Amino acid sequence: MLDDRPREECGVVGISGVENASEMAFLGLYALQHRGQEAGGIVTVHEGEARMHKGLGLVADIFDAETIKRLEGGTAIGHVRYSTAGGGGARNAQPIVVRYAEGDLAVAHNGNLTNAHDLRTWLVKEGSLFQSTNDSEVMVHLVARSRHDTVDAQIDDALTHLEGAFSMVISVGDTLYAARDPRGFRPLVLGRLGGGHVVASETCALDIMGATFVRDLAPGEVLKIRGGKVTKLRPLPPVDRQSPCIFELVYFARPDSKLWGVSVDRARRAFGRQLAREHPVEADCVIAVPDSANSAALGYAEESGIPFELGLLRNHYVGRTFIKPSQADRDFGARMKYNPVREVIAGKRVIVVDDSLVRGTTSRSLAKFFREAGAKEVHFRIASPPVRFPCFYGIDMPSRKELIGSDHSVEEIRKELEVNSLGYLSQDGMEGAVEESGPFCSACFSGDYPAPLVDVDKGYVTGNPRC
Ligand code: AMP
Repeated sequence: MLDDRPREECGVVGISGVENASEMAFLGLYALQHRGQEAGGIVTVHEGEARMHKGLGLVADIFDAETIKRLEGGTAIGHVRYSTAGGGGARNAQPIVVRYAEGDLAVAHNGNLTNAHDLRTWLVKEGSLFQSTNDSEVMVHLVARSRHDTVDAQIDDALTHLEGAFSMVISVGDTLYAARDPRGFRPLVLGRLGGGHVVASETCALDIMGATFVRDLAPGEVLKIRGGKVTKLRPLPPVDRQSPCIFELVYFARPDSKLWGVSVDRARRAFGRQLAREHPVEADCVIAVPDSANSAALGYAEESGIPFELGLLRNHYVGRTFIKPSQADRDFGARMKYNPVREVIAGKRVIVVDDSLVRGTTSRSLAKFFREAGAKEVHFRIASPPVRFPCFYGIDMPSRKELIGSDHSVEEIRKELEVNSLGYLSQDGMEGAVEESGPFCSACFSGDYPAPLVDVDKGYVTGNPRC
C-alpha cells in the first residue's frame, strides 16, 4: 500500500541540442530550488546512453564539478523534489530511468497524478515490477507496455492514461519530449538556447541559463524536440475547462518568473492592492512576511498609501537543526526563521501581510513576536482566501483537519492569532486580479476539484476532501 494522500512539489528542466547540457540542467535546477529541496537529479544522454546522478538535499550539495563533467551529452532532463508522497528518500528521487526497447527512457514529472494508484494496481496485475513508490513511475511502465509501433505513439498512448496534474519532461535516447496535462495545472515553458532548446517549470530557470523565452506550453500540448527542431505531436484529448493552479501565483512560483502571460510579481502586487481595497485599516506601516509575501505587501502599501517597512527579517540559512526546542516553545520553528526589527515596530500600528495561511502556526508565532516587539496594534492581512481543502494536484498541503481555515471562522482565527484584525482576500478578488490568465484551479480555497480524484474515490488514498 502506498502512502496515503499525495503531497509533493517539484520542478523540472529539459535541455536539447546544447553542448554542455548537464551544466545548463544544473543551473536550471538551481533556479528552481524553491520548488523542491529534498532531492534532485539529472540524466544526460551521451551516444544514446543515459547517465544519471541523483541525491538527497539541495542541488548545490548533490552535484559538483566532477559529477557535472561526467554527465556528458547534449540532451538532459532534471528534477528537484520535495515530497511526503510515496515517502521520501533516494529511491523516489527523479528522473526515473529505465532501459526499454527503443533506448534509455528517462522521466521527470512535476504535479500529482490522481489515478496513479489505480493505474499501478492494474499494471502490477499485468506483471509490472515497480522500483519506487512515487506516482510518476507509472509513466515508464505505460510507455513500455504500449502496443503502438513508434515511440511518439507510445508516449502519446501513455500520457492519455494519466489523470490529474503533470508537467513532464521525457528523454528517449537523445530525443526530448515535453508534455503538459490538458487542464494545465502546473507551468512549463519553452526557451531557446543557441541552436538548442530548453523547457523548464518556470522562466527564472531560463534566465539563469541565458535562454530566451519562447512561450508557455499550452495545456494538453506535447512537444518533441530533436536536432534543433521542435515538433508538435497530437495534443492530449481536450477537457471542458483548463485550470492552471492559482496557488502558483499566490505562493509557489518565484516572483521573477512569468507564468501564463502574467508576471508573478505583478500578480502578487495586484492581490495586495485588491486586499487593501477589501480590508483597509488605519495603521503606520505595512510589513511583509518575507519572502513570499513581499510583492503582495508592496501592493497593499501602494494602494493604501501606508509606507512599506522592513520590519521582519528572515534567516535564509535555516536547515535542519540539532538543537531541540524546549517543549514549552511552540514558536521555535518560526523563531529560527523570522525576527522582527524592534526599532521599526515599537509603538506602531502594523499591518502584517502574508501570502497565505495554512495551519496558522507561523502567523500565531509572528503575531506574538510583533506584540513582544512593542507593536501598538497588529493587523494581519492575507493575500489569498482561507485554505480550506487539501491539494491533490501537486502542492503540499496538510489534511483538512490541520487546515485552520477548514473549520474556523475568520473571527475565530483572529482570536486564535490574538491580533487586532484579520482580513483575507476574497476568492472573487483574487481571481479578478489575474482574470486575463484564468480561469484557474482554486480547489484549495473552494473545494471545487477540476480533475477527477480517481484514487480518492476508489478508496486508494485517505484524506477525502469531501468528508
Ligand atoms: P502556516 O504556519 O501553516 O499557516 O504556514 C503559512 C506559511 O507557509 C505562509 O507564510 C506561506 O508563505 C507558507 N506556505 C504556504 N503554502 C505552503 C506550502 N505548500 N509549503 C510550504 N510553505 C507554504
